[in-house]
Amino acid sequence: MQETRSTCCYCGVGCGVIIESDNGRITGVRGDPDHPANFGKLCTKGSTLHLTAAVDGTRALYPEVRLEKVAERRRASWDEALDLCADRFAAIIRQHGPDAVAFYLSGQLLTEDYYVFNKLGKGLVGTNNVDTNSRLCMSSAVAGYKATLGADAPPACYADFDFAECLFISGSNTAFAHPIAFRRIEEAKAARPEMKVIVVDPRRTDTAEFADLYLQILPGTDVALYNAMLHVMLWEGLCDNAFIEAHTVGFDGLKALVREYTPEMAGRTCGVAAADILTAARWFARSGATLSLYCQGLNQSCHGVDKNAALINLHLATGQIGKPGAGPFSLTGQSNAMGGREVGGLANLLSAHRDMANPQHRAEVAQLWGIDSVPEQPGKTAVELFEAIRQGEVKAVWIACTNPAFSLPQSGLVRQALEQAELVVVQEAYANTDTAAYADVLLPAASWGEKEGTVTNSERCITHLNAAVQPPGEARPDWDIAAEFARRLASRLGKAELGQRMFGYDRAETVYLEHCASTRGRDLDISGLNYAVLDEQGPQQWPYPAGATAGTVRLYEDGVFPTADGRARFHAAGYLPVADRVDARFPFHLTTGRLRDQWHGMSRTGTVARLFNHAEEPLLSMHPDDMAVRGLRAGDLVKVGSREGSLILPVQPSNDLRSGQLYIPMHWNGQFMSGMGSNALINGSFDPVSRQPELKHAAVRVEKMRFDWQVVMLKRGDAALLARLQPWLKEFGYARCGLAGRDNPVVVFYGAAESAMAEKWFAGLDAMFGLDELDTTMIYNDPSRTISKRVRVVDGHIDAVRLSGETAAQGWLKELMASGASAEAVRKWALAPVATPPAGQAGRGRIICNCFDVAENDIVREIAAGADLAALQGTLKCGTSCGSCVPEIKRLLAAGKAAG
Ligand code: SF4
Repeated sequence: MQETRSTCCYCGVGCGVIIESDNGRITGVRGDPDHPANFGKLCTKGSTLHLTAAVDGTRALYPEVRLEKVAERRRASWDEALDLCADRFAAIIRQHGPDAVAFYLSGQLLTEDYYVFNKLGKGLVGTNNVDTNSRLCMSSAVAGYKATLGADAPPACYADFDFAECLFISGSNTAFAHPIAFRRIEEAKAARPEMKVIVVDPRRTDTAEFADLYLQILPGTDVALYNAMLHVMLWEGLCDNAFIEAHTVGFDGLKALVREYTPEMAGRTCGVAAADILTAARWFARSGATLSLYCQGLNQSCHGVDKNAALINLHLATGQIGKPGAGPFSLTGQSNAMGGREVGGLANLLSAHRDMANPQHRAEVAQLWGIDSVPEQPGKTAVELFEAIRQGEVKAVWIACTNPAFSLPQSGLVRQALEQAELVVVQEAYANTDTAAYADVLLPAASWGEKEGTVTNSERCITHLNAAVQPPGEARPDWDIAAEFARRLASRLGKAELGQRMFGYDRAETVYLEHCASTRGRDLDISGLNYAVLDEQGPQQWPYPAGATAGTVRLYEDGVFPTADGRARFHAAGYLPVADRVDARFPFHLTTGRLRDQWHGMSRTGTVARLFNHAEEPLLSMHPDDMAVRGLRAGDLVKVGSREGSLILPVQPSNDLRSGQLYIPMHWNGQFMSGMGSNALINGSFDPVSRQPELKHAAVRVEKMRFDWQVVMLKRGDAALLARLQPWLKEFGYARCGLAGRDNPVVVFYGAAESAMAEKWFAGLDAMFGLDELDTTMIYNDPSRTISKRVRVVDGHIDAVRLSGETAAQGWLKELMASGASAEAVRKWALAPVATPPAGQAGRGRIICNCFDVAENDIVREIAAGADLAALQGTLKCGTSCGSCVPEIKRLLAAGKAAG
């Protein structure tokens, strides 16, 4: 067995992992005890990474091409696929110019991958049409830092959790989205209970539950809140005038602006008590060290830059920066969005935090790359890029490691764009994403554990990853694919020698060393790094210039900022409302967010059965009063409609939201449900500076759907069936598919429609689930009530089920199948309309603790018997491994206490 050091490929916490592999197969994963991000801990997602490594029918294994849009893709050699790409790109560039092609990348790529693509687009092709899904994630944070501190550099670090006296968490459900960072916060609070925690969020999340002060603001009103906090700080003499005087400019303009933001005025705008704004301002300013954590709640907004900057203003006004425990600290969404930012992987940036708008920066990059110039014209950013494709202005797009058909707003228009493009190249590890369906050329990419390179996490910490196993099939590292394409394209453009010189990399480190050299003298200078240094010293935080012996833990400790005069800038911005306004026709504010156990579009987490056990389906959360007014009950199917599009899904009551607000988890897409997912509801509005779209908000209405027929289909032990079910999702009014169970995954398909449609699906679905094997299948039909059921028993175990028209037994049948228990005792009840099996076993309910497979009903039963957290952890072990479920257990304890 081999062990290989790497990192988790999901969120920006960037936890270190040790991958266990045997005979070329990944067999296990555990937290790296020496990694400074997590010291051995992993959350539910990270600790199940090895389960995603199996090649189960979803991986792209070989290049595929199609020569005509209407044709099916067929397997091709790498030579054929890359020659086709190079021929078509060269022809389009020659005929229409370099801006007729584009590259759309991902914060999941490694820094080396990102670097090569950026050089390919901006250096070889001569287009700045190189953008990335980091535009949807962090571009407002980038612009906010640059507008105030002078460079895109989070000044703080995770160790600051241990020094902060006040933690201000805004627009971040850290407990779900950055779980291991939240574990460190919990530990800091346990060690120093006097540390104040303020949470600002429209939704009462697990993070909000943890707060000493929770401000449940109305969506999009953050700037009003921060300006009001500054108003209080000024009024009460809480600003650090010496710091402002010595290290900043622009305070007078901001002072004048915030004069009108009284706590009363902002309280009305934000929907919170003025007294709470006063308390927040006092805690923030008076604490010895205040640390702000923020994420998509600020970034994914039409005013995301203003929100970021208004929060940073508070740090500058109070001198809460450049010292232990203090500073603004944006939590990066994706594992390597930070690395992408370092290499300038956005349409308005160049390598090493250089600006495309700066002629000197362009000249420096041209010299580094050995070319005459890089283009001056900014490229198209994500939303604009896909609109330009739709309009025919951009004719060929190369999409690497991301799923824009799902993740961009206006998903319907994005799909139109992909249909209309002359050439869509998709470089992907997974063959079944919504975007892969539009690929004219599909190039199989290596994935987690299969390639070498580096990533940078939220705290500027760079880790060297090694490949644990070879990529499956013919998949190759992303940088290698991009470099080989670049050489082939260069020769077709009459620049063969240049292509070889620019892209003749022999290994990942050659790319990395070039990137390091490009940073020399810049704010993120890592000219002192190479793979050997990272291996010997472990992960290092930038900057790490040549001659340094260690990375830089914290920035701006000397009060000097990377601006022309060394001073930070205050950014004066007033509050502006959300772009998509509610009115009588669209009366609800919809917000979107993340679940604890899923990641992005679920391409990876959606292959692990236990990651569905906490939340098995997409649900619309709605305040119980709003449900009552509309006559809705839990589980009813509703259509959520915006001015942009609509989505059908079940509704659930939630007291975490105010009346008038709704919430949908953002993960489900066309791979797992009918419809295009939550982003189909979001309009294309974006921040005028960062160009980041307002993915966090839409004005919507809700109407009850009346499908009178439903079908539930279950199949044990064939997870690969999930991918084959995708086409069926489109057939139903509402449908979803997923997995259940743990060691014996059960594929679950649910569909609802008009009963008149029922019969037409049975033959096809039954065949897929093995329910056409009549010698092993029990059948019950009652055509007069449109009820039809089939249960297949193999070797004493239930192998497959179809319940249609009447589905009461679905819960216990699913649990029985997942447990692997014998079906003999309950065989005769399998077709009966009973919600519990006759033996009386109650359903287990949701799995709260995924590490120890502890269900909600077990926890509730123990709580009713008087257990506290310690007792629960002692008897059930829940919350004693990754800790991701502890906030929820505390909620159940609180609910139990409230119920007496
Ligand atoms: Fe991965 Fe979880 Fe760590 Fe994020 S917090 S990097 S998802 S293990």
